[in-house]
Amino acid sequence: MENEKTINTENTAVENTLPQPRRSIAFIGSECYPFVKTGGLGDVMYALPKALAELNCDVKVIIPRYHCIPWEFQEKMVYRGSFDMDLCADGTHYYVGIMEYVHDGVVYDFIDNDEFFTNGSPYVNLVDDIPKYCYFCKAALAALNYMDWIPDVIHCHDWQASLVPVFLRTQFADTALRDAKTVLTIHNLRFQGVYNIPTLRYWTNLPEYIFNKDVFKTGYDDANMLKAGLTYADIITTVSNTYADEIETPFYGENLDAHLRYHSGKLRGIVNGIDVAQWDPSKDTKIAEPYSITEVLDKKKANKRALQEELGLEVDEGKFVIGLISRLTDQKGLDLVNQILPSLIDGNTQVVVLGTGDVRYEDSFRWFENDFRGSVCSCIMYDEGRAHRIYAGADALLVPSLFEPCGLTQLIAMRYGTIPVVRETGGLKDTVEPYNMFTQTGNGFTFDRYEAGLLYDAVNRAKTLYFTDRWHWDEMVQRDMAKDVSWEASAWQYRAMYLELRP
Ligand code: ADP
Repeated sequence: MENEKTINTENTAVENTLPQPRRSIAFIGSECYPFVKTGGLGDVMYALPKALAELNCDVKVIIPRYHCIPWEFQEKMVYRGSFDMDLCADGTHYYVGIMEYVHDGVVYDFIDNDEFFTNGSPYVNLVDDIPKYCYFCKAALAALNYMDWIPDVIHCHDWQASLVPVFLRTQFADTALRDAKTVLTIHNLRFQGVYNIPTLRYWTNLPEYIFNKDVFKTGYDDANMLKAGLTYADIITTVSNTYADEIETPFYGENLDAHLRYHSGKLRGIVNGIDVAQWDPSKDTKIAEPYSITEVLDKKKANKRALQEELGLEVDEGKFVIGLISRLTDQKGLDLVNQILPSLIDGNTQVVVLGTGDVRYEDSFRWFENDFRGSVCSCIMYDEGRAHRIYAGADALLVPSLFEPCGLTQLIAMRYGTIPVVRETGGLKDTVEPYNMFTQTGNGFTFDRYEAGLLYDAVNRAKTLYFTDRWHWDEMVQRDMAKDVSWEASAWQYRAMYLELRP
């Protein structure tokens, strides 16, 4: 009895230290680490709910149950229920199953349907993906109703979940969910889910008046799922302040800039963080020699040698090793890298590329590897472990993106004491302060216009510091490791936004 009393007092004490009031949030999106991840969205869907749970938010994450989710998670899922849901204009019904998994204070609900989610990877092509995500958006809302879990805020991510606010305010307007507020976060404006109107009309059965130019319609006869979501969401966020400004301009606006300018009153930027437990150089079991901020200068050399050995590069800790970890697409500024790569190889520099994507970049990097054997290594693959070892073993990391909503690789690089070399755009501009040789401040090297010559110049500035003023280089390495790149500050901002919507 006595014991029970003590335990109860302790629990109340813990609750009292949490920020009040408690709010419930449903996260809806198409991917979530560690179940399925193709890029930054997967990281955010994992790390932000976890950070919010620590700030007294009751978070439920809803994602599709793809067949590619590893068995170790599939086998732990618990069946929560199932029902039939009408979806299409001709009245076709579909099965919706709910499988649940609880981890780190966050509840994950997987929408189960074999007809839509049997592919090996989440995204296939628009012909398959458009129906799949129409179904998913409606099924996610129907599942909330089915479980009788009515959140204060429904937070949707990217075009795959963008029809949620639209369904909510139309087909679900008379259900218990109607009081929930909605937030739509843009992780990458390039992808919008555009398809012809008859197909979307069929797969959504949304009312005729939605298919006008202010909501769904784009061009002459297409419908744009993201555009519709942006219209109906209560707040639109994107993943950095600079990107929030940029997307209202024609260059970055991907044909939605006018629409976003119209809705700019509800548009804001909140920068991403990284999960500092997942990315922790002092406890990282995937790297050769884990290290803390006080050990980095020695241990980085050991990690560099291990990386050079693993990749068949000339083993020499004196070389300047440049890493590039990225999807190989036009967005990532790889045409600039291709233009300058031969000039970078000067006998003292090595380049390591890890990525998959467009064939022309995969081929050009393979070609460079062949041309500069021992100095360039191109790993055309997706490999988490190798990514960790490159972050740990490289001296600098290139992120010369054409546009970058936030970018996580520069944040991870800083956490591992690897100096980022970035273009001043989007989140790269907001998170990497340029090095100032007079005040000895800054975290990396930056350039502004999208030109190969400027990237070359930025890399050379980095190299000059590395080879001629190692003391100050090492200071920057430690400054970067000490920088707060965690989710905490941003999670507070999200929490404040939820409270604004639901005081
Ligand atoms: P995006 O979401 O545009 O792809 P981000 O910088 O936001 O770019 O996120 C990229 C994430 O994916 C990082 O965690 C990065 O380490 C990881 N990543 C990218 N390419 C690979 C790869 N080939 N192998 C392993 N991890 C990768």
